[in-house]
Amino acid sequence: MADYSSLRKFANAADYTKNFIIQAEIDKYLPNGRHFIDDALINRLIEETALRPADPSRVREIIAKSESTCETLLPEETAVLMSAASDSTLFAEMRAAALRIKKKVYDNRIVVFAPLYLSNLCVNGCRYCGFREGNGLQQRRVLSMDELREELDVLAGRIGHKRLIAVYGEHPSTSTQYIAESIETCYRHQVPAPRSGRKNSIRRVNVNAAPLPIADLKVLRSVGIGTFQVFQETYNRKLYEQMHPSWSVKGNYDWRTTCFHRCLEAGVDDVGLGVLYGLCDWRYELLATILHARDLERWFNIGPHTLSFPRLEPASGTTVPEQSPYLIDDETFERIVVIARLSVPYTGIIITARENPSSRNRLLECGMTQLDCSSNIAIKGYSDFENEAHQEKERQQFMLGDNRSLDEMVRYLASCDTITSFCTAGYRCGRTGGCIMDALKTGREGKFCKINAVLTFREWLDDFASDSTRALGEKLIERELEGIKAWLPKFYPTVMQRYEAICRGERDLFF
Ligand code: SAM
Ligand code: SF4
Repeated sequence: MADYSSLRKFANAADYTKNFIIQAEIDKYLPNGRHFIDDALINRLIEETALRPADPSRVREIIAKSESTCETLLPEETAVLMSAASDSTLFAEMRAAALRIKKKVYDNRIVVFAPLYLSNLCVNGCRYCGFREGNGLQQRRVLSMDELREELDVLAGRIGHKRLIAVYGEHPSTSTQYIAESIETCYRHQVPAPRSGRKNSIRRVNVNAAPLPIADLKVLRSVGIGTFQVFQETYNRKLYEQMHPSWSVKGNYDWRTTCFHRCLEAGVDDVGLGVLYGLCDWRYELLATILHARDLERWFNIGPHTLSFPRLEPASGTTVPEQSPYLIDDETFERIVVIARLSVPYTGIIITARENPSSRNRLLECGMTQLDCSSNIAIKGYSDFENEAHQEKERQQFMLGDNRSLDEMVRYLASCDTITSFCTAGYRCGRTGGCIMDALKTGREGKFCKINAVLTFREWLDDFASDSTRALGEKLIERELEGIKAWLPKFYPTVMQRYEAICRGERDLFF
């Protein structure tokens, strides 16, 4: 069990809202009060570069740099790519390069996960969110540990997930102690698989929660948190202040923007950045994301483990998602993902089930690396509803667009010659943060992880797959094993020993 003795306790929501933020932990990362999100620079790059016609030879130079170095681009370079994205010939070249980079860094793997909402109580008043304080249309609840285990029975027992993103409102009832306890519960709970009867469990818990102080982050590290995800929503300070009332904890822009600096200081070194696309001009958001990534690299030599691309969706009790002047159409969304892949070449790109199936299928070709499926975002939705695709607006934060099951998704991916990876070896072997950055940039990690992808895919096919998915998956495995044999002839027998052990029923073997 984790040691919670370092954590502060709050009497109630008002006490929490007033006293939670630690100013010294902001100031440290904004030396002389200067913010790394340089508003004037971003506006200048939009006016003078992103909205002007592109010089094709400069665009091609930048694509070549991104592909060969896999280093984060300069904001000036990202602005050039933005200007090129409306030229169909140049965009086709950018899109093809984005896919090549994805293959270099991650090969033909897609990592799958499921969202698990543990609470919708919240002290904040975000104007676009159904969970916001004062929205009487939401049915509020916090899962007990017994209820959490019922959710895990479905996620790990029936569906076969091994990786979660656990999502929490910001409230004293879901304090860091609660988050830590729920992570530990996820790791401990073992459930028999329907096809083989072998035990499955969740092996990686990523967290999407509000920014935390350093002492709290250290507690989450001690219980084995995967990636800590915090979406900035918008980097535009003025708009941020309009969307997040100043009386709320989330109203503090600087506390949120310095959150990952605190994570990296605390040793939580897989951090997941994101913007809620549709609140503000996408060019502003993407340029600010580059500045954010570069500032983390400057301080810690570690950049974002993932970038997420949530798009604003309708939610209960608010019209903001329908009325925002910055809503993004599918074509622009694709441009954003391609430019992001070229701008931060080594990072994982997550596209959630907010998107509809055709949009996600298309984004697979633009550099996406992670997606969720069999997703249900109602609190206790997995165990309450017979079918995880069932949705109820008053029980969830927003509505989902892609209801495909994990089995359907695995089958679809296999038909595109893409292997679904259930690998969670990275953080359990200490391959996180700075240790993984170089391996990603040189393409070593992509090949190495392929072996673990094959091992975990074999497990999942034997434990959970339908007959048709299994048949297609086995053909894919044969091709992958041939590829590993050609690439690593000396190591191949060791790989096969583990592979055969899994076929005999051993579980959770990895390199
Ligand atoms: N409460 C924490 C916070 O806000 O940081 C974490 C959980 S919050 C439930 C997760 C994310 O949902 C938010 O960061 C926001 O980007 C996203 N979200 C909120 N309202 C949304 C909406 N209407 N459509 C799409 N995503 C939304
Ligand atoms: Fe609360 Fe997060 Fe929703 Fe804001 S986005 S109201 S902080 S749950």
